[in-house]
Amino acid sequence: MRAGAAEQQPTDALTAARVGTADGGSIGADVPGCLDCGACCFSKASDFVKVSGYDYSRLGNRAASLVTWRGNRAFMRLEDGHCAALVIDTQSGQFRCKIYDKRPEACRALARGSGECAAEREAKGDRPPVALRLAREEAEPTASES
Ligand code: SF4
Ligand code: SF4
Repeated sequence: MRAGAAEQQPTDALTAARVGTADGGSIGADVPGCLDCGACCFSKASDFVKVSGYDYSRLGNRAASLVTWRGNRAFMRLEDGHCAALVIDTQSGQFRCKIYDKRPEACRALARGSGECAAEREAKGDRPPVALRLAREEAEPTASES
């Protein structure tokens, strides 16, 4: 989710920020809210979400823990198959970006409801629900612990 998903903003603000597609059209009812989707923040590719020098500077003191390097090129670090900045909220079931205001340009450029958004959901839409289920299982005390 790059331009799109995982915002820290309240759902209302997120919805307001996504009222149109990149070409100014309206978003179909079949497109989920980014907080309920999160698909584009998942990846298995080591070059997922390029981090430019400007992006790195904007991340400030969070850059060192969230960015990984391949030679002299920087990318968002992956963790458990998704961007390390993605927070899976087991209570609400939502997917939030903990650096939303400081997210890289690549994330800002992916507009909810765009063709790229549809491709991300088609390719990876099955991953967020699985990750949420696993996170909830991990968060719940086992029978022997309760
Ligand atoms: S794939 Fe689309 S709807 Fe899903 S989080 Fe990304 S931008 Fe939002
Ligand atoms: S920084 Fe990571 S969690 Fe945030 S929008 Fe980009 S890919 Fe998603």
